[in-house]
Amino acid sequence: ENLLAAKMANLGTETAFMVLARAKALEAQGREIIHLEIGEPDFDTPRNIIDAGIKALNAGYTHYTPAPGLPEVRATIAEYATRQKGVPYTAEEVVITPGGKPIMFFTILALVNPGDEVIYPNPGFPIYESVINFVGGKAVPIPLREENDFRLDVDELAALISPRTKLLIINSPANPTGGVLTPEDVARIADLVRGKNIFVLSDEIYDRIVYDGAQPVSIAAQPGMKDWTIILDGFSKTYAMTGWRLGFGLMHRELAERIAQLMVNSNSCTAAFTQKAGQEALTGPQDAAAAMVAEFKKRRDIIVDGLNSIPGITCKRPLGSFYVFPNIKGLGRSSQEMEAILMERAGVAALSGTAFGKYGEGYLRLSYANSVENIKKALEKIAAVVKEL
Ligand code: PLP
Repeated sequence: ENLLAAKMANLGTETAFMVLARAKALEAQGREIIHLEIGEPDFDTPRNIIDAGIKALNAGYTHYTPAPGLPEVRATIAEYATRQKGVPYTAEEVVITPGGKPIMFFTILALVNPGDEVIYPNPGFPIYESVINFVGGKAVPIPLREENDFRLDVDELAALISPRTKLLIINSPANPTGGVLTPEDVARIADLVRGKNIFVLSDEIYDRIVYDGAQPVSIAAQPGMKDWTIILDGFSKTYAMTGWRLGFGLMHRELAERIAQLMVNSNSCTAAFTQKAGQEALTGPQDAAAAMVAEFKKRRDIIVDGLNSIPGITCKRPLGSFYVFPNIKGLGRSSQEMEAILMERAGVAALSGTAFGKYGEGYLRLSYANSVENIKKALEKIAAVVKEL
């Protein structure tokens, strides 16, 4: 281990992959496991997008592209972003990456010096903290509380901002809680950071997966915020394209050039045919994407109602993403213990809330990107195991 560079000791991971490995090991022994740990849509990529990928391969999109992406695809994304985010973007402000995740990595790498403070949501996507620590930044978690519908408390945020704050990371709709910031929240957050040389990394990868009329608003559309905001977005969730590896960042054109330079130094570019499939995703019919959201909403209601009917568990009805974050404090076990109990005794793979940070203690994350049949079966199994605790 001491053969590795010292900073490797600070690199974290996503434990979801370890839970998945344990589930696969049990399945190899013949156990039936219901997968509620996975953060990806269970749907196939819509047909028109697959066909566009195949067509692109046949048309010779098998070569390198410019590092920040094909010009026409960057232009398509800029048009889409102008509509979706409510603020105008040009192609030069778009960097296409293999998934949205590299935008997280590259943004932190490009902006954060050792000792710089980065405020990020906790519970939140574990890669934020991992990369902050990796580059030697000071990780400053902002707790997301259930009593506030898992939205960050803006007054609490105000108290965490210091002269050393370099970057604020927000994620709405959120993984793992499903929380969605209100337009008022977003306006107040912008008021807090404006004029202080603080960048905002706004992870908007779930902004099309919302329910009950929720309207996520981008902080980039707040007055004076566009040049200070890096939007992370992508195709994995909205279009069920996790395995294609396609995402993008929206940012000031000078920063875009430096992020593209990080692409030159790492991936060279995103796969050409994947980019063309993404162009079809944004310009083709949107009914498949809308149908997925309608189906997710049905499942959300089944899983929330089912969890709330189990003594010792309470669950809020989230307004976005495809996760629920039930409170299990009434069960008298830690989140990690319940993760293990559900896996071993119920055959249900779920994630401990602590996989998303220390403020996740007392909660589990369940993904409802699974069939209604499997969700109902999992609820029965969870109820049976909880009864016997
Ligand atoms: N951001 C959040 C909050 C996520 O949950 C994920 C995926 O799990 C990503 C970003 C990155 O997804 P991808 O790299 O597949 O675009």
